[in-house]
Amino acid sequence: MLRKVSNIVSGLPKIHLAAATICTGIIGASLLLPSNEVEATRSTIKLITPKSETTVTSAAAKADQNAKPAESSTENNPVALTTDAQQTASFDSTGMLEATEEQESLASPAPIIENWIEYEVRSGDSLSTLFKRAGLSARDVYQVSQATQEAGVLKRLYPGQTLSFLIEGGEMEKLRFSQDQLNSVQLERTEDGYKVEHISLTPDVEQRIVSGKITNSLFLDAERAGLSGRMIMQMAQILGWDIDFALDIRKNDSFRVLYEEKFLDGKKIGEGDVLAVEFKNRGRTVRALRFVDSNGDTNYYTPEGESMRKAFLRSPVDFRRISSSFNPERYHPVLGKKRPHRGTDYAAATGTPIKAAGDGKIIWRGTKGGYGKTIILQHGGNITTLYAHMNGYKSGLSAGSRVKQGQVIGYVGKTGMVTGPHLHYEFRVNGVHKNPVTVALPHAQPVPSKERAAFTKQSSQLLALLEGETTIALADNDR
Ligand SMILES: [Zn+2]
Repeated sequence: MLRKVSNIVSGLPKIHLAAATICTGIIGASLLLPSNEVEATRSTIKLITPKSETTVTSAAAKADQNAKPAESSTENNPVALTTDAQQTASFDSTGMLEATEEQESLASPAPIIENWIEYEVRSGDSLSTLFKRAGLSARDVYQVSQATQEAGVLKRLYPGQTLSFLIEGGEMEKLRFSQDQLNSVQLERTEDGYKVEHISLTPDVEQRIVSGKITNSLFLDAERAGLSGRMIMQMAQILGWDIDFALDIRKNDSFRVLYEEKFLDGKKIGEGDVLAVEFKNRGRTVRALRFVDSNGDTNYYTPEGESMRKAFLRSPVDFRRISSSFNPERYHPVLGKKRPHRGTDYAAATGTPIKAAGDGKIIWRGTKGGYGKTIILQHGGNITTLYAHMNGYKSGLSAGSRVKQGQVIGYVGKTGMVTGPHLHYEFRVNGVHKNPVTVALPHAQPVPSKERAAFTKQSSQLLALLEGETTIALADNDR
């Protein structure tokens, strides 16, 4: 297999060629074109030459920052050093490929340059695959894993993160791992192993208010007012327990959103949370304020301290339609006789996840006659919910397990006495069946009494900001 090296420095006076020995890192090199140019041909690599650490001669300054992916082939790589497992290139102390064979005579003092090579983590990558791509060995992977084990970094890699290597003389001198725009870890080789250093940047956080009026749809009008899709989703999620954004929105409804924006060196790098939101819907005003309690938990409350959330999801599954409603007088399709339907049937494809409607404890998990595979949850306030005809249960759950609202407990199926896949869902208060679609759902826990003082302080500040004529980047399309 031929691979190419992307030691991307063009116009350097002289370059060593190398055929060092090592290991599994299989690298070919394309070198010594007549113009002394080195072609950059490795995919997803760009050369990083941190200004503070780099001495670059003028000739070397034309480094290609945007090495484009290219398939390996010898045709566009005339002096390629074809290699196999026996032959790899190594870097000398200048970061240049080092000659060990006949090209030695071409050598002349090379400029000092730190050749950082950056790799973006792609789906399926591991430390091993990335190290291999960088021409490093399994031994290097092992040493780095050892060094970082205690620090708890580099355990998981996600696509989009980057690993940057500084390799000198075939040895990895430094490794930088960027977890996100703000957090990175640097490893530096020392006498006794790698030294791990965390680098955390703190963004500047600014608050911004956006307001607007509905003329068309929530999404279009909020976007026009200057809200990102992410902020619109957050707003809809916070208010979604009170306002049905699919059905309740009317022309002339209006909104104000106070949220955080993050900046690094004056450049916007992202958005934080919605801090406060007000929505006037058909003459009714709904306000929600963010509160971070002393445990660090974030929730949204009304100005009075009621939770914006309900203690139960209205429907515990993403359904296509309600196939049978709560109906005490129903004619049963399978039995062919009158039999009350004491729940709601949500038609959904087999395998669709079923979520716990509220926090609670599993008091039944098993087959239950015509219900088929069934889970019953016990919640506070003497409420139970029942989920029937499941295809299967979420693994790891059994009678006695505690579950959180929204946690997947099983999957839609057609076990028991049914005609097609659906979730049969029951909601009982003190043992009495209620219509799950219309039952009044209790609010989730309000601000705990020991947090009241802090909440009052935070919320009055947020309300003042939300109601005030704030001038920070006010995008007002009311006019
Ligand atoms: Zn049913």
